[in-house]
Amino acid sequence: MKNITLLIAILFSISIQAQDKPSFSSMEVNHIRVVTPGLFSQNKSIYLHLDSLKEMGYAFPLPGGKVISAYGARKGHSGADIKTCAKDTVRCAFDGVVRMSKPYSAYGNVVVVRHANGLETIYSHNSQNLVHSGDIVKAGQPIGLTGRTGRATTEHLHFETRINGQHFNPNIIFNLKDGTLRKGTIKCTKNGNGIIVKQNQDNNRIAQNKK
Ligand SMILES: [Zn+2]
Repeated sequence: MKNITLLIAILFSISIQAQDKPSFSSMEVNHIRVVTPGLFSQNKSIYLHLDSLKEMGYAFPLPGGKVISAYGARKGHSGADIKTCAKDTVRCAFDGVVRMSKPYSAYGNVVVVRHANGLETIYSHNSQNLVHSGDIVKAGQPIGLTGRTGRATTEHLHFETRINGQHFNPNIIFNLKDGTLRKGTIKCTKNGNGIIVKQNQDNNRIAQNKK
């Protein structure tokens, strides 16, 4: 009897840990990482102009979706988890080329799209991918259906934004609350092996002066 109680206690704690730890390992996160050759060869900082991305067209990756787990909310959480319902349409955020579309470890069925300036967007846990690597895709194009493949406890989209292979908070590009594209410029500064990504302060000052 004692042994059974112990076994139940162990199984219970394992299931809690599994619920608690759906983030990717650093190996998994790094395997998605591909640098853009020469991106920082001229300057230590590069700028992403969101207004010009807006002109080319953009789409929120899961329209009407609600963030159920923010970037960095759990240790190693490299993106934002956005939820609507099972098998909902996942849309490409900007024009680009599909760099990867396949099942990969805890990411499950994952699509990686490369855009201008080395920006990449990643769409993971799909029940099905609708594009192939090498496909040219447009903003708003359906690229997958939401699911829970890989390490996921519910149907949702794990959405990442990356520059030069390094993930950063997608909330810097999209207002994840209302699904709109943010305004202005994002500054990406090389710092050792990493990159610091943030809203360009100069840009914000100009915006404030205009008010
Ligand atoms: Zn996630």
